[in-house]
This record gives sequence, C-alpha cells and structure tokens, in this order.
Amino acid sequence: MARYTGPVCRICRREGQKLFLKGERCHTDKCAISRRSYAPGQHGQGRKKVSEYGLQLRAKQKTRKYYGVLEKQFRHYYEMAERKEGKTGEALLSILETRLDNVVYRLGWASSRAEARQLVVHGHFAVNGRRVDIPSYLTKPGEVISIREKSRSSEKIKSIIDINASHPIPKWLDLDKERLEAKVVAIPTREDIDLDVEETLIVELYSK
Ligand code: SF4
Repeated sequence: MARYTGPVCRICRREGQKLFLKGERCHTDKCAISRRSYAPGQHGQGRKKVSEYGLQLRAKQKTRKYYGVLEKQFRHYYEMAERKEGKTGEALLSILETRLDNVVYRLGWASSRAEARQLVVHGHFAVNGRRVDIPSYLTKPGEVISIREKSRSSEKIKSIIDINASHPIPKWLDLDKERLEAKVVAIPTREDIDLDVEETLIVELYSK
C-alpha cells in the first residue's frame, strides 16, 4: 500500500504542532517543532491569511497524518461516522482511535503509530487470542488485545515496552502489564482523545 515516505517532521511543522510521529525523538529537544516552529518551505515564515477552506483542509490533513491514514481510507471512515448516531466528527475520531495500530501505540507497545503499524504487520499481536496483522482492524469493546506468546521474548519488544513504561493509558483500555494484554472496555469518547483539532471543520469540508 502506498505510504508517505518523506520527512515526517515536516508534517508537524506544516500543521504547527507536535503530532508525535517519530517516537522518542518527539520528547527531546531534537524535535523539529522546538527548533523551527514555522511551516516548511520558502514561504514558511511569511504571514498568510488562511481561508475557511484552508482551515478545513488543514484540520483534515492533520487528523489524517496523525493516525497515518491515506485519503481514501480516511474518507471511508468519514462515511462510516456519518452512519453512526451522534456527532459525525466525534464518531470519526472514535473510529480512528480504535484502529489496532493506534491501540498498540496507546498501550505503550510501540513508540509511534508508524512503529505500531510495522509491528502489527509482522504479526506480534493477537485479538481474543487470534493473530491479527491488519493495522486498520477496528477493535471493539470486550475484545482483548495481547502480545503473542512468541513475541514476548523478543528483545526489541521488551525494549520498546521498557521505554514506554510510563506511557499514559487511556481509560477506555484496561491494561494488564503482567499478562501483556489489554481489554477494550468502552468506545473512546472525544475527551479520551488528545488530538488538538476542531473535528467539525472536517465535517464542514466533506459536507460541501
Ligand atoms: Fe513531530 Fe516528533 Fe518530528 Fe517533533 S520530532 S516534529 S513531534 S515528528
């Protein structure tokens, strides 16, 4: 599947905020946002009036890049969200949040969503005891996500878990650190999601 392979810090600089796309580096003073907090490119430091459409587009792009989702799939999630009860923007974020790669990242079993995606593809995780290697798999309340038996002894996995030991766990996930498994106890709500975005702008963009 096609993926963005350019410099990821550029994405944060474009959005003007930390999107934590690079793991450990994001928490150090090497973070590009700390060093150069203006947009990339020749006109990055110029003052620019942003149109309404521009704001809507940036909100959509920021959310899409944060979760590492391509346009077509993002649109698909939006259509799913439209069919749900309640606010479409919040439903969209909730769907994105339940992706297996995001859950792995939230549990501290990966340092970034990109790393989580790779670990999922390599088959290190199971859902209800069955191997799942699809990053876009949408987890549901009641399901148990675990690190597979044969992956628990992997030095790489052990080191990632150590590095992220103090990672805050959202309340919709119940992590058992000893058993290396976590239960999805609820559908994530807007207040559980720490992305600083006005999701209504995405709805406005797609409603045109
Ligand atoms: Fe974004 Fe992380 Fe790069 Fe900082 S280090 S600009 S948060 S990807």
